[in-house]
Amino acid sequence: MEVPLPEDLGAPAKRKPVATAKPVAGRCLCGAVRFEIDYPARWAWHDHSSASRRAHGAAYATYVGSWRKRFRVTKGMSEICRFEDKAAKTARSFCARCGTPLIYERARSPHMVNIPRALFLKRTGRQPLYHIGIEERQEWTYAGEPLVPLKGFPGVVWQRTKKNKRFEGGGLF
Ligand SMILES: [Zn+2]
Repeated sequence: MEVPLPEDLGAPAKRKPVATAKPVAGRCLCGAVRFEIDYPARWAWHDHSSASRRAHGAAYATYVGSWRKRFRVTKGMSEICRFEDKAAKTARSFCARCGTPLIYERARSPHMVNIPRALFLKRTGRQPLYHIGIEERQEWTYAGEPLVPLKGFPGVVWQRTKKNKRFEGGGLF
């Protein structure tokens, strides 16, 4: 889905030239695959759809969209595996060594590549202000509820509920 960006809406007669900045680099978990995009990215969003949830093994995926011509694999091209979902008309690429999701392509946006935000080491120039499939958001997704330390488990915090209070500190692990 292409969402119009604020700068597309006013159709200004002249665009200010984009300041040239260094490309933004990213990598997979094992480091076999490295890539970069030109700064700034096109857009960024949270994807709550079941397909992205499953492909990432996570509550939701946060993507940075880049024009394909502004994206380059700088290392490990031969390590990249590509899975085509013919029914959904999408393709998902991942590192064959460590399994990190790398590139999400959609037939309806052939000039764009979408990359998990978490793989970038620095700012991409876009905040993830958009949500896709928000109606599919899972009830177990953490949404900023207040958290308190869990007694006896340093480094663990939890969302205290009346229902679970009697279990505090025992039987959770
Ligand atoms: Zn890897």
